[in-house]
Amino acid sequence: MTPPPTPSQAAPASATVGPVLPLYHALRNVGLDAQRVFKIREAEIDREDIHIWLTDGTIAFTQAINGRVTGAYFEGEGEVLVRPPDRMERASLGLFTGAGVLEEKFSSAYLRFNDDTAKELEPFLRPPEDAADFIARNDSRARTLAQMDAMRLCLSFSSAPPTAVPGEPPPIPDRLLHARFAGEHYGIFDVFFDTRSPEQVTVGNATSHEDQIYYDLWMSFPMRSLRKTPLSDTRFGGPSGPMWTPHVMSINKYTINAAIDQARNLSATATLDIDVKEGGTRVVLFELSRYLQLKQVEFEGKPLEFIQNEAIEGSELSRRGNDTIAVVFPAPLQPGAHFDLRFTYSGLVLSDAGGGLFYVGARGTWYPNRGIAMANYDLTFRFPQPWSLIATGKRVSLEREGDGFVGHWISEQPIPIAGFNLGEYVRSSTQLQNVVIDAYAARGTEYRRSSPNAANGSSSPLLSPHAPGTVEPVPPPQPLQNPAGTGQTLAEHAAETLTALSQMLGPYPYTTLSLTENPNAESQGWPGLIFLSSYSYLQPEQLRALNLSAADAIIYSEVMMPHELAHQWYGDQVSWASYHEQWLLEGLANYISLLLLERTQPADVQTTLETYRQILASRSPNGHRLVEAGPVTLGSRLSSSYFPNGYEIITYGRGTWLMHMLRWMLRDASRTELNPNGDDTVFLSLLRNLVVRYQGKEITNADFEQAVEEVLPKSLWFENHKSLDWFFDGWVNGTAFPQLELSGVKVTHGAKGATATGVIHQDSAPFDLVTNVPVYGVVGERQVYLGRIFAEGSDTRFSLPMPAEVNQLVLDPYHTVLTQP
Ligand SMILES: [Zn+2]
Repeated sequence: MTPPPTPSQAAPASATVGPVLPLYHALRNVGLDAQRVFKIREAEIDREDIHIWLTDGTIAFTQAINGRVTGAYFEGEGEVLVRPPDRMERASLGLFTGAGVLEEKFSSAYLRFNDDTAKELEPFLRPPEDAADFIARNDSRARTLAQMDAMRLCLSFSSAPPTAVPGEPPPIPDRLLHARFAGEHYGIFDVFFDTRSPEQVTVGNATSHEDQIYYDLWMSFPMRSLRKTPLSDTRFGGPSGPMWTPHVMSINKYTINAAIDQARNLSATATLDIDVKEGGTRVVLFELSRYLQLKQVEFEGKPLEFIQNEAIEGSELSRRGNDTIAVVFPAPLQPGAHFDLRFTYSGLVLSDAGGGLFYVGARGTWYPNRGIAMANYDLTFRFPQPWSLIATGKRVSLEREGDGFVGHWISEQPIPIAGFNLGEYVRSSTQLQNVVIDAYAARGTEYRRSSPNAANGSSSPLLSPHAPGTVEPVPPPQPLQNPAGTGQTLAEHAAETLTALSQMLGPYPYTTLSLTENPNAESQGWPGLIFLSSYSYLQPEQLRALNLSAADAIIYSEVMMPHELAHQWYGDQVSWASYHEQWLLEGLANYISLLLLERTQPADVQTTLETYRQILASRSPNGHRLVEAGPVTLGSRLSSSYFPNGYEIITYGRGTWLMHMLRWMLRDASRTELNPNGDDTVFLSLLRNLVVRYQGKEITNADFEQAVEEVLPKSLWFENHKSLDWFFDGWVNGTAFPQLELSGVKVTHGAKGATATGVIHQDSAPFDLVTNVPVYGVVGERQVYLGRIFAEGSDTRFSLPMPAEVNQLVLDPYHTVLTQP
């Protein structure tokens, strides 16, 4: 008996017209087809880097929907193999599985696909023995699992094939294979092959740790055929999960008209000015807070079908949260089309920070968007007394209207994100040339009851220098005795900082800067608007009274505000290309704040760096050293069930150290006889030139590496190559945290002077780690710079000329290399 043929995979006409919701519901609820249960042997499914063997078992296909078979449930013996393509992914996989390759036997698998996978398996199918029993055992499980990919399949089946964009490579065919396995060693995990995802191959699992659900991404990388260029050259913006298809459209302008009532209910219309890039798609996803109910989406004057909240399910829910809406166009989008899309929505999106302060949750989901991307904003807010509302952009008007106010803000140039705060504030102002600087301090005296650690997901917390697990809660800030005076001091401090930053990085791009008080330990920066922790509003003596650690006190009083201000350049003018570059902008913003601090309080900079080093060396409750959370380039993936604070610790701690290392390599390389201490000319012009070069654009790690290589002095050319690959391989894409030791030092005195020889040992380091180490000579009380040595692998022999009076050598006495404490 031969199996019945698989139904035709031709696209049914109904998919690209009419409502999509019935298709979506069908895809979500599909069960197994009792007529299509088979024995299966020696079947293999290959998708670029992914290899799956269904060695021996039983398989049931899902019921056909509009003639398509989209899934199958397998039980028996199988195996999956996925090889990580580079060091970063190997390290990440190793953290979660302890192995360098994913090679796992499984006993069951649920497969979901949008292509002819079912047909591909036909040659391996034989009649079944126990079909009815198999269906009875597995059908309800299969129906539950069907929810996971329903929206993704809906995108495929409602779309026309993507159309080519002139001048761009031909579009990649839309293919999806999601396999959820019950593995022998690793339990339940997912393998995705999705050509509509920025990183087409992903492997991970959902886990919970201390009541928090994490989606641990074991691996995520571009498929083999797209890896001809280095990983970091593959550019994409927007949310990094599947289905976001950033190449589909760009949003040029948001016009938002919002009203907030006494009960803090926000109702708004948002009109998005859109250019379609790659056509073909009919269903487009937007982010919008789950607390906002979408009432209508209009396109060319007519309401569109949309799906809110139920759009994202299963593993996607734990990966991204349920803040997604799907908008259904009447027909597949045409490339080059230009139109407005108007959203009407309302809900309670403002969090109560206590005492008359309100703010929107993180990630700007108070308006529909497709992730962080440069756009113009025109914002109108109606709000009641006695509140003040402060928004991104230049306020062009504020008028009374009835019992409240109506204000209008316009972005002065494209910005990556828009936000606003609402509260009862006392305003203090100062003027810096043409920039008005306002500091808003909270008027309320009761608000400090809220826990300072209830951060509500602010997007740019600085590292609080406590190891997780040993966190001492920061005591709640006390009411400001004199909010007006405090605000004035802060506004003036901000003006000084802005002056220094403008000299360092180029002109401040906006005509206003507003600082508003955030009554907890964290801060968040938007273009021209900074939501600053209450602690940074305190005077030094008030901070001291809180008995914070030395590093905490430095961060709140000297680092946090300059860090957020530095984001006005690195973050708001130069944006990141993907999650792999989050560290770059955070590391730059944080290190720039330390460069400013170094001018007046160099000891505080050392304290901060030393604290970061100690935290990286400390261990989590499960025994892992925190530095092992992964390389900085893993971005948001660093926060996992193993390292709940991994993102903060690595991005800020290690990211700042990497900038410190680069800065000192360049500085030491500038030392000459006439300029024995060297200077920061090269590093500072690099910082400034990057702003000019990437103004209004996204920067990749490869762009950054190239920019540093362009100015790389000859003495930093490892093995005579004008390249920083050694630094990016081991330090940026790796987790290097070596111990350095000096031994066997000998001094020979010749006719031309003295020469020191010795060996630098690198311990606890990858065998191929390269580190550029400064060597100093001790002369009496002084330490004299002798030169820098490339230490490679475990032992490196060196010889350096030196003054005859040197009586001892030391490695890196000023702590410019990230080594173990
Ligand atoms: Zn930041």
